[in-house]
Amino acid sequence: MSHPEYTTESHYIDGNPPKYKTYTLRNFRELPQIQKLTEEHQFAIEVVGSVLPFKSNNYVIDQLIDWDKVPDDPMFQLTFPQRTMLKDHHFNKMADVIRSGAGRDEIKKTANEIRMELNPNPAGQMESNIPHLDGKRLDGMQHKYRETLLFFPSQGQTCHAYCSFCFRWPQFVGIDELKFASKEADLLVAYLKEHPEVTDVLFTGGDPMIMKTKILKSYLEPLIEADLPHLQTIRIGTKALAFWPYKFVTEPDAEELLGLFKKVSEAGKHLAFMGHFSHPREMETPIVEEAVRRVRKTGAQIRTQSPLLRHINDDPNIWAELWQKQVEQGMIPYYMFVARDTGARHHFDIPLEKAWEIFQEAYQKVSGVARSVRGPSMSAGPGKVQVLGVTEIEGQKVFALRFLQGRNPDWVHRPFYAEYNPEAVWLNDLKPAFGEKEFFYQREMVNQQTQQGLSDFDERTVFDE
Ligand SMILES: *Cc1c(COP(=O)(O)O)cnc(C)c1O
Ligand code: SF4
Repeated sequence: MSHPEYTTESHYIDGNPPKYKTYTLRNFRELPQIQKLTEEHQFAIEVVGSVLPFKSNNYVIDQLIDWDKVPDDPMFQLTFPQRTMLKDHHFNKMADVIRSGAGRDEIKKTANEIRMELNPNPAGQMESNIPHLDGKRLDGMQHKYRETLLFFPSQGQTCHAYCSFCFRWPQFVGIDELKFASKEADLLVAYLKEHPEVTDVLFTGGDPMIMKTKILKSYLEPLIEADLPHLQTIRIGTKALAFWPYKFVTEPDAEELLGLFKKVSEAGKHLAFMGHFSHPREMETPIVEEAVRRVRKTGAQIRTQSPLLRHINDDPNIWAELWQKQVEQGMIPYYMFVARDTGARHHFDIPLEKAWEIFQEAYQKVSGVARSVRGPSMSAGPGKVQVLGVTEIEGQKVFALRFLQGRNPDWVHRPFYAEYNPEAVWLNDLKPAFGEKEFFYQREMVNQQTQQGLSDFDERTVFDE
């Protein structure tokens, strides 16, 4: 494939750099495209969007969504609330409140009541993942796997648009001051100095690429300047390439941003983007191709991941195309996730057996360079568990599983087996095969928890990166 050299100006719209504009409940009815939907449909968006996060933007709306295919269009499904994301009784409860002409406060109160029922433990990140420094909790970090520290910069806790399956809304509130950033960066460096086992820092959110270059710099520069020999890789988990690729090309601080990436690479650190792409459409516009080229030119690599979602990408051909397009553009397919517990999970989830079939069929269609991808993987309490497949052992149908990441590194890549269950959608739906009482790692999990005095261990509320 050969590419013309694009200039920045060639991505302008009507002679100007495109301006980011968001669409939420407040203004979505103004969109000309929305006029195609019936009033009933628009009302359903309002009802569901009052409970689940809803934010789209002009790029997603004008360039990614195919409005002729709405409501089935996968990009529409990805960023617009859908009627079936709420169970009937929740939908009706909110619909009645809105119809009654209730004010903001009452809508909010009802929304929170419903949310509590969707996920009884919304902010319940596992205590055991929160690192400490000098006896103090570091709330903006999570240290679950030995080598990798998750870092949540306080100013990166929102996104350019919200994915309808994501349930991180408790996080989606930003703090807008630079001084917080520098204080956090200091704590990050201090923690890393005490933890030479950490090779990777993963910036996550929300979406860290929501931050202006100046802010991102205030996090990255101290990290480089600290000159930590054990720190090999700085990763940034982002969906900005899919949701706002102008960030890397036409935004006023885009050049400075690319310069910052280059600086990281030149400091001898591997800069790795964990790019979230859920559908091939997200990789097809000229602007995303240009953004990918420019990011890669700085020496950074882009690895890709996405959950497997009904209504959006539950088809092996979609995944094969996704991985092929990624490889073609120089990206590295990395993880396929099983959709985890979210508010609208019943709308998106896919049985594990089906997930494995989709993964396997897609994997069989692509060449070895795209087979860097691993999955389907569940990010659960004990670790990332891959479904290797359904097989038969001594006449018994079982799931073969293994850890791709484990709370204990020693668990990784040991096959283990669960009873076949065609309805299982998550690890906690599975029982050990062959009459065993527990999975091999469970004894140890319990010990760890008891040691740390944990009470309400909920493996489904762990972040998924
Ligand atoms: C996935 C994940 C990581 C990164 O794991 P890799 O396999 O190294 O990509 C780190 N922390 C948490 C909590 C994760 O879920
Ligand atoms: S999946 Fe990522 S980009 Fe999408 S809403 Fe959640 S945090 Fe934001």
